Amino acid sequence: MNIKVQHLKKLADSILDDCVEGRVAVLGESWAYRAAGRRPAGALWPPPEGGGGPVTPSNCLALVDRCLLEILWEHTSRKNRGVRAAYRRKLGLWLARRFRYREKIYKNLKPDVTGKNRFVNWLCSGSSVDRLVLLLTHSCQLRCAYCTVAKYPADSSFPVIRRACDLLLDGERKQVYLQFFGGEPLLRFDLLKRAVEYGRLRAGARGKTISFSLTTNGLALDAEKLDFLEKNGFSVEVSCDGDEKENGISRPALAGDIGNAHKRLVRNLDVLKKRKIKYKVIMVVTQENLSRMRRNYGYLSAAGHKSIQVNYALGKLWRKESTARFFSEITRISGGAQKLARSQLVNYTPDRREPVALNSELSCDCDGVLYRETGLCIERDFKIMKERFRVGSVFDGRIEPRILGNTQFDNFFMLTKAYGRSKRLSEIVMNNVGFGRALDALRLRTGRSG
Ligand code: SF4
Repeated sequence: MNIKVQHLKKLADSILDDCVEGRVAVLGESWAYRAAGRRPAGALWPPPEGGGGPVTPSNCLALVDRCLLEILWEHTSRKNRGVRAAYRRKLGLWLARRFRYREKIYKNLKPDVTGKNRFVNWLCSGSSVDRLVLLLTHSCQLRCAYCTVAKYPADSSFPVIRRACDLLLDGERKQVYLQFFGGEPLLRFDLLKRAVEYGRLRAGARGKTISFSLTTNGLALDAEKLDFLEKNGFSVEVSCDGDEKENGISRPALAGDIGNAHKRLVRNLDVLKKRKIKYKVIMVVTQENLSRMRRNYGYLSAAGHKSIQVNYALGKLWRKESTARFFSEITRISGGAQKLARSQLVNYTPDRREPVALNSELSCDCDGVLYRETGLCIERDFKIMKERFRVGSVFDGRIEPRILGNTQFDNFFMLTKAYGRSKRLSEIVMNNVGFGRALDALRLRTGRSG
């Protein structure tokens, strides 16, 4: 295998060994190797932005994550298919042993490690879950072409919400985030209000801060809800793919009345714009509407939306020519947005981490089942996805929130394992991850923001 992989393996293992053997000392908020002269070094450090700088508890393991992610990419990508099968198997096993390595360090930490408790706290400060997605309902007024959330009559309940909030607040993080999702979460505004009330109460009792966000189709955003969102400092993501015709194709209404649905959305977005609520509009690009990508972005920008995020559809194999077209369009959009300074393209800001397919959150379904939503981007059967990526349930009491934090490596590993037997689905995983990597490289190359 190539020298890069060998180098990264050594680097990752040396840091992980030092963690387990206690050769890492915690010095206030920073850390250092006890053994003099041993430093994480290599091509991947420091990362170009967001997480660079001095090595801290969380970014020490971020370096390990990056090494493992790169090795897995090299191992799985097509160009390595020619490598000897025995070597591939060996490397595969090596990677498998490092899957969820934080939990392993946590469990295997030698009892004789000096200052073990402090060390565990240190480790967990960078790996504890700090974000939870709460599905309030499986119902929705729309039937978007690319939606992967199953629609059936099921809503969350207060016991689920209460346990989910407790779990989130049981971790080590001082600042946590609760995101409301669905279906359309505003269809259960009553539950959303109770969750906010309970979350605030519990966070206050534990001396923590909780922030809220909402992903919505915008159809039910009336004055009462906007007042509540504003008062509670929500950040809001509203989906809109473009004008009435565009939404009619990709985001049809269940009742078939797209004209009315679109009018309602535009009216609600107009009111939202005037509120003191941080929001962005999410626009999804598929290979089918790619030719209208710039026009759709222009429509949203001309409507006065300052923050627009362009999502490329996941779970599909992006053809070479479509990928090239997407990259050329987004470059032009970014250039135009900068020149006119009318709207900010969220994709070019550090808020947007690529590859998106690997940025999984811990999600809690209406029945309390916790799962990694990384599979949502590929799996069309929600039930299978939920089982495949299941972490546990808010009711089973065996969840250790201090080590639930996920990493891009873990998510990538889960995806390659889940779809390893299907040539078509493996190809989609690699295609979507590769798309995100290339987009990230473009963003860093152009160094643009907005
Ligand atoms: S609005 Fe959201 S939940 Fe509803 S169908 Fe569209 S993508 Fe799915």
